Amino acid sequence: METERLMIHGGSTRSGSLGQQCATVDTMAGGRLYRIMVDCGMEFVREDELGMGGIGPTPDFSLLRGGKKIDAVFLTHAHVDHIGSIGALCAGGYLEPEAKIYCSPQTVNIVPIVLNDGLKNHPQYNIFDAADAISRLAVIPAPGECEILPGLKVYIAQRGHIPGNGGIVIPLASGRKGYFTSDECWHNQPVTQASLLPSQSWPTEWIPDEIWGTDLTYGAASTNGSKSKPTIDEEVTRLIEKVREGLDNNRKVIIAAFGTGRIQNVGVWLAKAGIRVYIDGIGREIYRIFQENRWTERDNRLPKLGEGSGIMPVESAKHREHLIRSSEPCVVATTGGMGDFGPIVAYLEAGISHKNFDFYFTSWLDPRSNGHKLVELSKKMERDDEHSECRVKLKMGEDKPRHFPVRASISHFALSAHSPMEKTSEFLQDIVNCRHGKPLDRIVLTHGVQENKAIAANLFMPFSRQIMYGERNTIVSL
Ligand SMILES: [Zn+2]
Repeated sequence: METERLMIHGGSTRSGSLGQQCATVDTMAGGRLYRIMVDCGMEFVREDELGMGGIGPTPDFSLLRGGKKIDAVFLTHAHVDHIGSIGALCAGGYLEPEAKIYCSPQTVNIVPIVLNDGLKNHPQYNIFDAADAISRLAVIPAPGECEILPGLKVYIAQRGHIPGNGGIVIPLASGRKGYFTSDECWHNQPVTQASLLPSQSWPTEWIPDEIWGTDLTYGAASTNGSKSKPTIDEEVTRLIEKVREGLDNNRKVIIAAFGTGRIQNVGVWLAKAGIRVYIDGIGREIYRIFQENRWTERDNRLPKLGEGSGIMPVESAKHREHLIRSSEPCVVATTGGMGDFGPIVAYLEAGISHKNFDFYFTSWLDPRSNGHKLVELSKKMERDDEHSECRVKLKMGEDKPRHFPVRASISHFALSAHSPMEKTSEFLQDIVNCRHGKPLDRIVLTHGVQENKAIAANLFMPFSRQIMYGERNTIVSL
């Protein structure tokens, strides 16, 4: 029987993990039932965890097995937890032969990099599946209304967070509409400006009746009377001051950051403060992609890389080695943000046991990552006023875990490109206002640790008749 429904395939496989985003919607349009997938992410899983309990980092596709094939995919933005399993999706044969994978120009350019990277670490797909995924990519040239299948128009809204990030409104046969928020950011960043409220920017006919996916990664600004989290401006100021102090003391400042969005922001923030900064790893390529592709006027123009802007690429492994070995102080922003893979491994190996290195982490850190271990250790050292030598077991890339004495200084800065849930409440209130005070019919909570979902369920209650948890393998009749 042809029924309209929402199915959740993504989620997290353990507590403390953000998991991955992935859902499908079956909707009738032009007399046909279409199956649309929104996002197809990969969870951050350490190599040593793979195969544990049979749970891998991809979404659970079991609801799709043997059923109707997917007619179109929309990727909201180019973060791995939203696009990283697209190769595995192709390998599983879940797509109609003609199915396209729609995304913004920035995402179209980043998907091949992520697919190529994934081939090394998670062999759930091969080079032919990657080529299949790439051949299906189709650009949505600008946010707004878009006919993604014959007779099916959707609405895509710019959402801040990173350049080329969009939420999607999908209509049902009845005219009712559901909205996937994508990751949301309500503050301006060097790479792109904040999300806009629907009342400021959306045509009234695209105001949704339901929310089918949320971004709860950041959590609330303050919970149970605990101290409020620092604002992004406070953290950027603290970062700049700390980097200056490091340089004045002839230190090497290594900033671990995510390659898509965070590194480029860190580069521009520091350069604007008059600090020369090198960028290393995948962040260099993504910087150029953001420079060459703008989706809307709200994606900012990035300065040209080089001496002129003070944001310089690390050109080669030899160049990296020179920066590490020279007696000059320097600032390098590099991937991977959690300290496990990419060039950060070379910097950690060279510097973690040396007093003249500073390591800053700027991303959300998975509890099992090197970054998390180091940040926790430094907090403990501060608390205990510990001056004796500390050692930590780190897993560097593909190598077996080893013990390292820690003599470098470690800091964490919360430079999130997400916003507190209170901002989502304002957004939901705005939608309710656009609906002349009528609450939403349903909110499906996704993309956040369990405790954040529980907080959101309370916080969002005034805006919706029904609130449900969108766990893996949830099916919602629409
Ligand atoms: Zn994201």
